[in-house]
Amino acid sequence: MDKIRTLNDFGNKPSEQKNTSNTGMEDKTQKFLSENELSKKEPVNENDDEAKLESSNLFLTLGTTNKEDALKELYKKISNCKRCDLSKTKKNYVFGAGSPNAKIIFMGEAPGFWEDQKGEPFVGRAGKFLDTLLEHIGLKREDVYIANILKCRPPENRDPTLNEIKACTPFLDELMNIIKPKIIAALGRHSMGYLFDKFNIKKEGISKIHGEHFTIENNQAKFFLIALYHPAVALYNPNMRDILKKDFEKIKELLT
Ligand code: URA
Repeated sequence: MDKIRTLNDFGNKPSEQKNTSNTGMEDKTQKFLSENELSKKEPVNENDDEAKLESSNLFLTLGTTNKEDALKELYKKISNCKRCDLSKTKKNYVFGAGSPNAKIIFMGEAPGFWEDQKGEPFVGRAGKFLDTLLEHIGLKREDVYIANILKCRPPENRDPTLNEIKACTPFLDELMNIIKPKIIAALGRHSMGYLFDKFNIKKEGISKIHGEHFTIENNQAKFFLIALYHPAVALYNPNMRDILKKDFEKIKELLT
């Protein structure tokens, strides 16, 4: 039986950056954080055992070699989650949706009202625009995987807190580890914040860094990380539609 490894299992190489792109687009290569660096991350809430990041439990072998089955196992864990108080106020957990064999994961922020009602990611107005962007590069939802940093809706759609992000993201790490996509696309600043921290990439404003891709690699895995504006920005600022479309065209180039 294959062991499904976590991103954090990968080597203890020092961080370094180099340009390895052959796409003509700007590229930076980043080694994974070592276990030591990751273990320095603080627990969610020192007084609440349940809320601590028990990554050793979450990152054990899943006992299956099949991505679909591995995702089902992950869904089961999420549907019992009480790691933060959002589990008390949410209507539905929003696991994520799409193909277990997707070459790309889009990572949004958190479920909103409609996502909470339906238990599916990006089913509101921002989701409709995400569909348009996918269509623009010849993709459908079924071809990709769509997830969020948080699995539960924050009340009144407020920003996720740091503790909520810390509590929920081990599930996301496990998701990335199961799907092993070629590209992870952060939608918006919260998602970018989490992923750039995790992979030790210097954070800059999304207005500066959107559309730029970074190569994350070690001996066993390699993928591109790219930050994009959240599709919701285009609902309030129509000028953003073209910017997002251009950034999606870059994703198409990376996929081919
Ligand atoms: N915004 C997000 O970030 N995620 C959703 O699922 C919906 C809207």
